[in-house]
Amino acid sequence: MVRSYIKEARRRVGPKRARIVPIIQRLMADHPDATIALKYRNDLELLVSVMLSAQTTDVNVNRVTARLFEKYKRPEDYLAVPVEELQNDIRATGFFRQKTKSLRGTMAMLLSDYGGEVPARMDDLLRLPGVARKTANVVVAERGQAEGIVVDTHVRRLSQRLGLTRQEDPVKIERDLVRLVPRPDWGRFPHLLIWHGRRICDARRPLCEECPLAADLCPASRVRG
Ligand code: SF4
Repeated sequence: MVRSYIKEARRRVGPKRARIVPIIQRLMADHPDATIALKYRNDLELLVSVMLSAQTTDVNVNRVTARLFEKYKRPEDYLAVPVEELQNDIRATGFFRQKTKSLRGTMAMLLSDYGGEVPARMDDLLRLPGVARKTANVVVAERGQAEGIVVDTHVRRLSQRLGLTRQEDPVKIERDLVRLVPRPDWGRFPHLLIWHGRRICDARRPLCEECPLAADLCPASRVRG
């Protein structure tokens, strides 16, 4: 019964390849302000913000970095204070011991291998201690050179709801999405889904009646076309 309903819904909206561009266009029209919520002024602040954002909210990170970035302006600054001092300065973002270790390791490598600059390439970013694929993806995407698609909980949920992937694992979801989403949109696509997830497509109570994707583009829509 459930299976036939899903089949029927998929048939109604058509193949994902035909839907992806209209989905992006409608989300762009609906959320023209969809950008990263983290506040930063340069590449180093971007990298630090993204590293601190693991397991916490962007609002929380912005609250901490507003003071942090006045004190720590260069990679050297993160190594010049006692470990406990840096731990205290980022404590409110949670997992502060591990994050301090990652930050200090990353700053040391920026100085030893990259002349104190944040490298541009994904491969180089992934060498930095504590910098996982998701972090590196966000950093390169924000600098306009997306090499992949960032998959967080919103992106995962929305991609599944929209029938763009059947996978559960973020790495496999990203693989599906990069085959589907036009490359120039790789950077903005996650922001569109994240903002759409926050404003319209809530996990428990999606506002399908107000959704621009409603009946013709979304197989999970509660609105009948
Ligand atoms: S139609 Fe409903 S389920 Fe589909 S994306 Fe919009 S709000 Fe979410």
